[in-house]
Amino acid sequence: MNVKDNLKVIQDEIESVTAHAPTIIAVTKYVTIDRAQEAYDAGLRHFGENRIEGFLEKKAALPSEATFHFIGSLQTRKVKEVINEVDYLHSLDRQSLADEVEKRAEHTIKCFVQVNVAGEDSKHGFAPEEVIAFVKGLQGFEKIEVVGLMMMAPHIEDQIQLRTYFAELKELQQQVAALGQSNAPCKELSMGMSNDYLSAISEGSTFIRIGTKLVG
Ligand SMILES: *Cc1c(COP(=O)(O)O)cnc(C)c1O
Repeated sequence: MNVKDNLKVIQDEIESVTAHAPTIIAVTKYVTIDRAQEAYDAGLRHFGENRIEGFLEKKAALPSEATFHFIGSLQTRKVKEVINEVDYLHSLDRQSLADEVEKRAEHTIKCFVQVNVAGEDSKHGFAPEEVIAFVKGLQGFEKIEVVGLMMMAPHIEDQIQLRTYFAELKELQQQVAALGQSNAPCKELSMGMSNDYLSAISEGSTFIRIGTKLVG
């Protein structure tokens, strides 16, 4: 299907569960530049990539009005190759990465702290109980703004269990926001992908990252 039709289906579904439409990030990691351009032409303005090469390639090809989200795990030694092209980093998942971003970035990077809510071995991110201390430790970092928290949900069918994970991240987001730290407004929640975005939105997601169902 073309991106425009996919987007319409997704927007209609979103409208059925909430009046607060989240920002849709088109995850273009599986597709060509032409398909990403089709997404842009369909009206999408937020794009996500999880690898440096694809990120730089899509960013160079699309109009400069597009906003670019780096959503994949980022190796410390590669930060300098990409960080100054990044609008939003969704994968701030360890102190050494924060230190390197602070050192290399020439503008403030909007960051999501990645949280491994379900405690899966295969997933990156802080354990929920580590998040507050990590954010407090970022006080004084000038190149990092903690705009929110991000999670990747486990691949499970049980929507009730999924929703408890999303709700847990929301609660944690509110705790971080309540710190009142100047570089950590933490108002946003990056959660929800092709298989689970309706549950994520129902629990307050403000950024959904959609690949398969939107662009293929
Ligand atoms: C690939 C990816 C997505 C999109 O996944 P789909 O299931 O194709 O929608 C979202 N977030 C991250 C971090 C990803 O790597």
